[in-house]
Amino acid sequence: MRFAPRAVPALAATAAAAVLVAGCGSSGAADPTANGAAADPTGGPASISVVTSTNVYASIATTIGGDAVQVSAILSDPAADPHSFEVSAQDQVKIAKAQLVIANGGGYDDFAQQMVDAADPRPQLLDAVQISGLDTGDSDHFNEHVFYDLDAMTKLGNAIAGKLAELDPAGKATFDKNAADFTKVLAALKDRAAGIGAAHPGVKAVVTEPVADYLLASAGISDVTPGDFAEAIEQENDPAPGDIAQVDALLAGGTVSLVVFNSQTAGPVTERLETKAQQTGIPVLKVTETLPAGVTDYADWIGGTLDALSKALG
Ligand SMILES: [Zn+2]
Repeated sequence: MRFAPRAVPALAATAAAAVLVAGCGSSGAADPTANGAAADPTGGPASISVVTSTNVYASIATTIGGDAVQVSAILSDPAADPHSFEVSAQDQVKIAKAQLVIANGGGYDDFAQQMVDAADPRPQLLDAVQISGLDTGDSDHFNEHVFYDLDAMTKLGNAIAGKLAELDPAGKATFDKNAADFTKVLAALKDRAAGIGAAHPGVKAVVTEPVADYLLASAGISDVTPGDFAEAIEQENDPAPGDIAQVDALLAGGTVSLVVFNSQTAGPVTERLETKAQQTGIPVLKVTETLPAGVTDYADWIGGTLDALSKALG
């Protein structure tokens, strides 16, 4: 459906009334200035305005676009529960003014696609899941947290460079160079993950949510969480007592040597799991879905997660 510009406030109000994100997303309390690049001090051509669904994608857009982009993220609050997000009229205005929107896709941040569709003129949209080329297959079981997939983010970096070059042909060489540098940085991170895997082969993990599973897989770590348990937590439901008992048995039985905990969706069940892990001496790795406070760079974030993983495995 296409809305006339005049209809935007009505749309935004409708959208705000409904919690749009079924699976994942993030909170509304974004700091609009947190990821905004300064205006071009050289007085060069006007910046390309880029809006991203989360600050993870804002960081990557800034890395590729440099001074030529002005980037703003809709979701940035590291303390918020990413599974309940309501768009505001302000968000719709932001998207309507953007030239390029970068979203995760795969059902993670459907609000971005909806707001792009409602904007006139419609900004360009890059969808990380689509760009990843991953087989979404049965979408109920597809792990949409592709921002922890270093191959997917390498492809996204290149796609952003291509799109920015369309919008600002004069900047093409810079965007391509930034994307090439980003590719190298992510390749080094992938090597580090593989090195952790080589030092700790065959690690099995229980996770409160498959947030970081793509990165864990790069380190050869398999997620053995009972599917119903993870699904219940992601959907903010209480897992069935039988699923909780199954997880307890995995922890007590010695097959699992890592618990991965999404600190953005903590609740009584996940906190109980953390306590259980501590009682049985199983290390806990805390991960997030948006950049934690004090971290502004995607590669630093992943590097920090790998440091924490390495430390957790001892
Ligand atoms: Zn999630």
